[in-house]
Amino acid sequence: MNQTTRTRSTQEWQRADAAHFLHPFTDFQSLARKGSRIITRAEGIYLHDSEGHKILDAMSGLWCVNVGYGRQELVEAATRQLQELPFYNAFFQTATPPAIELAELLAEVTPPQFKHVFFSGSGSEGNDTVVRMVRRYWDLLGQPQRHVIISRKNAYHGSTMAGASLGGMGGMHAQGGLPIPGIVHMEQPYWHELGRGLSRDEFGRVAAGWLEAKILEVGADQVAAFIGEPVQGAGGVIVPPETYWPEIQRICDKYGILLVSDEVICGFGRTGQWFGCERFGTRPDLMTFAKGVTSGYIPLGGVMVGDRVANVLIERGGEFNHGYTYSGHPVACAVAVANIRLIQREGLVERVRDDTGPYLAECFDALRDHPLVGEVQTCGLMGAVLLVKDKASGAPFPEALELGMVCRGHCFGNGLVMRAVGDRMIIAPPLVMTRAQIDDMLVLIRRALDLTLADAQ
Ligand code: PLP
Repeated sequence: MNQTTRTRSTQEWQRADAAHFLHPFTDFQSLARKGSRIITRAEGIYLHDSEGHKILDAMSGLWCVNVGYGRQELVEAATRQLQELPFYNAFFQTATPPAIELAELLAEVTPPQFKHVFFSGSGSEGNDTVVRMVRRYWDLLGQPQRHVIISRKNAYHGSTMAGASLGGMGGMHAQGGLPIPGIVHMEQPYWHELGRGLSRDEFGRVAAGWLEAKILEVGADQVAAFIGEPVQGAGGVIVPPETYWPEIQRICDKYGILLVSDEVICGFGRTGQWFGCERFGTRPDLMTFAKGVTSGYIPLGGVMVGDRVANVLIERGGEFNHGYTYSGHPVACAVAVANIRLIQREGLVERVRDDTGPYLAECFDALRDHPLVGEVQTCGLMGAVLLVKDKASGAPFPEALELGMVCRGHCFGNGLVMRAVGDRMIIAPPLVMTRAQIDDMLVLIRRALDLTLADAQ
């Protein structure tokens, strides 16, 4: 950015933005009417906008800035690599030191079944790779009819054709003829909507049982894999009952189907373990990652490939006809190595597990006394607060009120980024957040809830 562009006014930015920039997941006309908020810089857990506001970023950008903003180690790693070798590909039996170093480091920090990685540029591309790889695996084993992948309603697995198909978002399927063939969906483990009347543990087993029902409906010999986020993120930070994942694992084992853990949000410390599968006790065969691998400083994603799949691909596969220009991009990989080393050095995963995660859970629990709050859930450093009309029955407000959006507006107005998924208000702050900063955030959340309550009456 040169000096002239830096000194544009907010209105000038907004005019140019609306005239040329089609934003993701955005109603273009509404954006043109209201104008974007222009974020100009950030440090730690705070953003600054073009109007001079300081905003606590309780969403880590988009679930990704795990180490917080302004970390010089990452800037220096990128700069060094840009100067030395800004790009080379990994296609024709070539590799670069940062990509090899990152592959080695990922094998170290992920569960022991993962010794291999396939790099992509994003989480969506990672999940496209999953679809290709899962089907290739069963082809190589002489079972090409095993091509169906089971996912869940309200899951989010990205926005490419395969990613959006794996996801279970009705609004995405309604545009562009999705899902693609061979992808089916079952209900999500959302106790508040589907399990009231059962204990959470009972519901967890029931909800996992829907996988077995779906396998039998599709035909056990047709099913290739099950994919799920350990905690559904974009679906509203839906933390499953503790009984859910062990039962899912048991069912996958029983039918021999592959288990894919989408760790794009849950990976790299978010849940208080390095990976969500470790928090919930599963042994996935494939694991998608992105976001936290570089703390969002530069795009990078990929798939960790467990021994079961890797051995077949390597020993029997021949050429795997799949890859991206930016698979193993050296600058992205150099930043990822610096980012992971930083997470290790500062003990951020342990800090979330032993200190800030439990403290956030305590603070969120205390929100239960608020008249609007029907449910709170946390897992590591993510959390959700559900706004309800009636606390006893859990009855929702009319959808047309869009109370979640009202609350989000009050958050913004008071210097806090919190996201609304329907009437579920969610957070996933940077893992460097301190207890004192959690206290500050809670003051802002309570203020937004009070203002929202006044609007709802
Ligand atoms: N998987 C999950 C669980 C996600 O939350 C996301 C993005 O939010 C994706 C996949 C897609 O990642 P990307 O936006 O990098 O393509």
